[in-house]
Amino acid sequence: MHVERFESALWQTSSLLLVADGEAVAIDPGISRQEVEELAARAAELGAPVTHVLATHADWDHVCGIAAFPGAVAAMGPLTAQAVAGGGPAELIARRALEYGLETVGPPRVDRTLAPGRAHHVGPFTVETIALAGHTPDGLGFRVRSLDVLAVGDHLSTVEFPFVSDTAAYRFTLAGLIDVLRHDPPAQVVPGHGPPLSASQALEIAEADLAYLRALRDAVAGALASGADRERAHEAGLEAQPPRPAEIAGVHAANVETQLDELLEA
Ligand SMILES: [Zn+2]
Repeated sequence: MHVERFESALWQTSSLLLVADGEAVAIDPGISRQEVEELAARAAELGAPVTHVLATHADWDHVCGIAAFPGAVAAMGPLTAQAVAGGGPAELIARRALEYGLETVGPPRVDRTLAPGRAHHVGPFTVETIALAGHTPDGLGFRVRSLDVLAVGDHLSTVEFPFVSDTAAYRFTLAGLIDVLRHDPPAQVVPGHGPPLSASQALEIAEADLAYLRALRDAVAGALASGADRERAHEAGLEAQPPRPAEIAGVHAANVETQLDELLEA
């Protein structure tokens, strides 16, 4: 019984292969056709065909490999399932494939919905699901105790800072992950992008990310409280520096806008 991590050439995106009893479970297999086929070939080489595919969230780079496993059960959280069924990710996969010059395997699908906060039988494994909203509303972490591994989707990355859709939710997610990492740590934490981490490395990232989001809120709220208009509050928010660089541009400013939307009265 073991776990193998694969890394895409795009954004160091993580795919996992969990193997036991002649069967394999893939998490976020991606991104290009060739990369996904390499993962499938490795499973075949181990005599453990992929019977289940899990997706941490519906972002295109995490669901773009599902179609390579037509015989497997594609399982994900209810909000991810809703997004996939709605067709948005399929459209985005096609668009991004063109944009990045990638050949991808096709549109994603959903076969099974996993309730958050529960343990589920997934192939030969018991998989505990943890709701992780913040990067996207639908994030779902997967913990497999028999392999001592926790996959957290696009949180806790050493190659990104928080890409936030909801700052309050993201702070709650980080606070929850910090509690898990302190009191019930897995041996290995696998973020959606960048290298796998020990629990103590992941804790360091979580603390730094939470400090950044706290500073972002304080800066924007403080400016608004002292009478700043939106533009000046935006400038103040930009002073909250992300804890590390990221490959994608514009996220720092987008996080400030998200924070502003949450604090300004509708
Ligand atoms: Zn991602």
